[in-house]
Amino acid sequence: MKNYAVFLDRDGTLNEDPGYLGDPEKVKLLPGTGKALFRLKNELKFKLIVVSNQSGIARGLITKGDVDAVNNKINEILSGSNVSIDRFYYCPFHPDFSTAEESKCRKPSVKMVLKAVEDFEIDLSDSYFIGDSAVDIQCGHNAGVKTILLKSDHSKDQIYALKKENILPTFVAVNLEEACNIIQKDFNGEK
Ligand SMILES: [Mg+2]
Repeated sequence: MKNYAVFLDRDGTLNEDPGYLGDPEKVKLLPGTGKALFRLKNELKFKLIVVSNQSGIARGLITKGDVDAVNNKINEILSGSNVSIDRFYYCPFHPDFSTAEESKCRKPSVKMVLKAVEDFEIDLSDSYFIGDSAVDIQCGHNAGVKTILLKSDHSKDQIYALKKENILPTFVAVNLEEACNIIQKDFNGEK
């Protein structure tokens, strides 16, 4: 049996984004995150897959251990909502500090998405990508899934960047809760 997935950006999508988050004590989930993820996973039966660029590691600002600790903290907080992320994928590289080959995992490349597809036998035809940045929408677009851009203070710049690439998000939502409503409606509409 194939699985469907909601691919999620991490910083600015699940949690507040202070930039190069490396301290688990500083993890703050955005309002409604637990509830929305609970619905996506337990009611709509999606796998929850985080796909994140973490170039702070290549930049020497944070370590892999820091990123893992933050990821664990996110699942610890989510356990209060009876839900967890199935797996966190992240790319620690950046072309300024790493080789071109290493940096190929970075969004908007679909490398991390395809790894998850293999690991979880995911059917991309009814999967989604949610994120707050242009690279998230590009990554979802490149993977052939429907995309949801979360509105933020920097949305205008993101949409501008996407338009230059001739890409638009399939949907725009004010927050994860609205994104979840959109998916619920869209997913059921197709069945
Ligand atoms: Mg983000």
